[in-house]
Amino acid sequence: MLSIFSNGSRFSMLKSFLFFCLLPLLVLVFAGCSEEEAVPEVVGVADYTIARSAFIPKAKPIIYRGFGDAPSRWTPPANVENKDRWKGIVIHHSAIPFGSAAHEDKYHKSKGWDGLGYHFVINNGVRKDGYGEPDGLVEVGYRWNGQMVGSHCRENGDGSNYWNKYTIGICLIGDFETRPPTKRQMQSLVKLIRFLQHRYDIPNSQIKGHDQVKATKCPGKKFPMSRLKSML
Ligand SMILES: [Zn+2]
Repeated sequence: MLSIFSNGSRFSMLKSFLFFCLLPLLVLVFAGCSEEEAVPEVVGVADYTIARSAFIPKAKPIIYRGFGDAPSRWTPPANVENKDRWKGIVIHHSAIPFGSAAHEDKYHKSKGWDGLGYHFVINNGVRKDGYGEPDGLVEVGYRWNGQMVGSHCRENGDGSNYWNKYTIGICLIGDFETRPPTKRQMQSLVKLIRFLQHRYDIPNSQIKGHDQVKATKCPGKKFPMSRLKSML
């Protein structure tokens, strides 16, 4: 009897130990995973015309578990997509602390272009002058939807336009000469790049900052390029 009782007591002590020590650990692990997997909702250019309220709501998180679960708007319409075309990705910053795809669209039109030169814009949640979208929210530009030539790098000296024709332009809102992108911007950027790499077979070596292909400070000295590469 004594030995049975003693064993039972040890067993219940073991159960208590597992419950009090391992349960919080499991909670932490799962909480960490869900934070890592949450990606802000994607919004298309059609939303430019929607009147925005003065405050920015938090982006509604979606769960992204793999390439098949990417937001549907990241995939271009099948009738215009050419999977062999996209050879690389060029990363930019907007060089001002606030804005959105609509703000960049307005700026690019003021330069005489058709409109937003980037294929994607990733927001930082800073709003000013009526422009700004939730931190980490990915906006899809009309050039991506139409699989059009970008307008995010200057033409080459020989008049060729390789970078705009064959690479995908992603702009993160912010001035990364003075401060780095937000954590959510980086999370969204990683998810978007992984999706594009997988879909178009783009190697890490073809993911470049604007300053690696043209004489510019873009995307800014505080953009963590080597950290980005380590996250892919
Ligand atoms: Zn740039």
